[in-house]
Amino acid sequence: HTIPDITLNDGNTIPQLGFGVYQIEPRDTVEAVSKALEVGYRHIDTAEMYGNEAEVGQTIRASGLDRGAVFVTSKLNNGFHRPDDARRAFESTLAALKTDYIDLFLIHWPLPTRYDGDFVSTWRTLEEFQRDGRARSIGVSNFQVAHLERLAAEADMVPAVNQIEVHPYFGNQEVRAYGRAHNILTEAWSPIAQGKVLRDPTVVDVAEQVGRTPAQVVLRWHVQRGDIVFPKSTTPERIEENFGVFDFELDDVVMERITELDRGEAGRQGPNPDTFD
Ligand code: NAD
Repeated sequence: HTIPDITLNDGNTIPQLGFGVYQIEPRDTVEAVSKALEVGYRHIDTAEMYGNEAEVGQTIRASGLDRGAVFVTSKLNNGFHRPDDARRAFESTLAALKTDYIDLFLIHWPLPTRYDGDFVSTWRTLEEFQRDGRARSIGVSNFQVAHLERLAAEADMVPAVNQIEVHPYFGNQEVRAYGRAHNILTEAWSPIAQGKVLRDPTVVDVAEQVGRTPAQVVLRWHVQRGDIVFPKSTTPERIEENFGVFDFELDDVVMERITELDRGEAGRQGPNPDTFD
């Protein structure tokens, strides 16, 4: 399969489907990422918080692929929002990955109640990384509309992406709509709600109807909505299964049936970014 590239607001491109490595132990990361690269994934989503940046970098280098062939995202951990801390943390990320640039670097959480809520100075520090070429693209994660509005008012650059929780049980429509209106791409984290939506009767029914697995149906739903996804798995068969979402289509009726599973705030699996500290 060929994975489409999406063009970001800074002109760089990102593969729409990637591989997420949250909750993969460092000792399992080499095997999982090797399998993903072998299957054809060319986009890896890691973070300082995940503790496996070094193993991600090691696996990419060992794969024999050119550095430029693999899109790598990492994220600034929550303890390092102050500009000098962010500079040091970014250098550690590059050192762990053993690379001299990262494709995409994100502020992991806005933390509006910590550091006097000053994520704007953190964002300005990421702008430096982009200007000096060590971050090809920069973005945010878990930003709500109010946080994005503050950046729009107080900073120079518009984030290339906002990586937020989105899946059929939590459509996160308001934040996605803001992104669409302001040219900020949505990356949908926990796209299959860590497996929880896969036994949903509607999802199972659609899967039977189209002759695909529940995971493929849900990932395809995201892709057709234009979001970027990077499902996580350490099971080789599932790593392959999750990659097979570009050779079929869901019709409008089916798309709508899945969209209607939205439970609003009640469907959220992770913390609410307004209060997460
Ligand atoms: P996910 O929605 O990708 O679900 C992963 C889990 O679903 C697996 O552990 C497995 O149990 C199950 N699964 C995977 N494929 C399956 C299949 N084909 N069939 C049946 N079960 C399957 O959850 P996630 O890991 O939380 O999210 C994906 C990625 O998003 C993460 O790895 C990380 O990169 C990113 N993420 C970012 C944030 C953030 O705050 N920015 C938060 C959470 C996740």
